[in-house]
Amino acid sequence: MALVVQKYGGTSVADAEKIKNVAKRIAATRAKGKEVVVVVSAMGGTTDELIKLAYSVAEKPSDRELDLLLSTGEVVTSTLLAMALEEMGLEAISLSGAQAGIRTDAAYSRARIQRVDPERVVAELDKGNIVIVAGFQGVTDEMDITTLGRGGSDTTAVALAASLGAESCQIYTDVEGVFTADPRLVPEARKLNEIGYEEMLELATYGAKVVHPRAVELGELFEIPILVASSFSDSPGTLIHGGAAMEVRNKVRGIAHDLDVAKITVVGVPDRPGIAAAIFEPLAKANISIDTIVQNASIDNITDLTFTVAKSQLDKAMNVVKPIAQSIGARECLSAAGLGKVSIIGTGMQNTPGFAARMFSALSEQKINIQLIATSEIRITCIIDEAKVGDAVKALHRAFELEIEE
Ligand code: ADP
Ligand code: ASP
Ligand code: MG
Repeated sequence: MALVVQKYGGTSVADAEKIKNVAKRIAATRAKGKEVVVVVSAMGGTTDELIKLAYSVAEKPSDRELDLLLSTGEVVTSTLLAMALEEMGLEAISLSGAQAGIRTDAAYSRARIQRVDPERVVAELDKGNIVIVAGFQGVTDEMDITTLGRGGSDTTAVALAASLGAESCQIYTDVEGVFTADPRLVPEARKLNEIGYEEMLELATYGAKVVHPRAVELGELFEIPILVASSFSDSPGTLIHGGAAMEVRNKVRGIAHDLDVAKITVVGVPDRPGIAAAIFEPLAKANISIDTIVQNASIDNITDLTFTVAKSQLDKAMNVVKPIAQSIGARECLSAAGLGKVSIIGTGMQNTPGFAARMFSALSEQKINIQLIATSEIRITCIIDEAKVGDAVKALHRAFELEIEE
């Protein structure tokens, strides 16, 4: 029997009515003769509430306790959904991530899946059960519960689909698929019928949170087609896959934005070998992810070095960088939060001139100042003032005529 993995996100299971609605959709899939494994998120808002609760009893809750606490959100949904299915006369069983064999490393709050031991899930499917798995969590070899990072249930779903050999992984959410920009920000945004892994990975990495980038990465690695669709309608959704001939020449595929950006500039850095390593090695050791890095051409052997981090990591990063800046003889170390980034993405941009110029002029028409620019082969990103991000995304959507069908 063909197997599908379905994932339902937080807004899709936000209350009892919505959980019953999801149960009906699962029943309809089952009625088509499919084996079904379902991955669920915590009920909308639950994870945030649990985090708040933790910080109300401790200034710095320990990583291990925090992960075990957060994992309960998804366990609640999985049990409720199994009960709703049983109530409809269907055979269902809920499993925590650990019971479902999701084995991770011990990096609390951002654990990575090392392997999936699917025996229990397979045994339950063989008994005729619909298997509901709590997303976003796993277990270490020491049997400690970990979480995969915010939005991690998407990753659980694709990992399970890969290990069970599912025909597809369906991610059900509160929008009808992947759009040319966040439809909540750009009402004219157009739903894409399909998109390649590579483009989706860039969109997701640069802020389109509709699918988690790690889920897209796993999908590409194991060649699992991922369908993104609404849990509230029967609209066909967007298929993320690796099919060829999807390159549209001269076309931007989509625009991503991210409001979680802060920057640090080390001013007056002596330009000599080893300086970048002296700054970035300690940041890596402190587990701070760096995004964009820009170093100016030096004048009189003195240069400036700017890089961006998530806002939540700014203080920690400054504490690491300040003493290093002093020890290497830099003039000063400046920081700024309140930034955002906008990115245009599309494989059709590769080796085609003119996209950067069009992007910059669309931003300048809106009087938006570009602070930093970074590019990949299929992406151009501008770091700008956070307050201008909405206008920037709308202007770029118009400038690249993304509302027009390909
Ligand atoms: P879930 O709780 O189902 O995991 P998320 O909130 O993580 O859902 O992701 C869905 C949200 O992603 C949408 O509500 C939408 O605002 C946002 N989003 C951002 N960029 C895009 C895009 N390009 N296409 C579709 N949705 C997007
Ligand atoms: N509940 C977790 C979160 O809110 C994981 C997820 O929903 O995917 O981030
Ligand atoms: Mg999500």
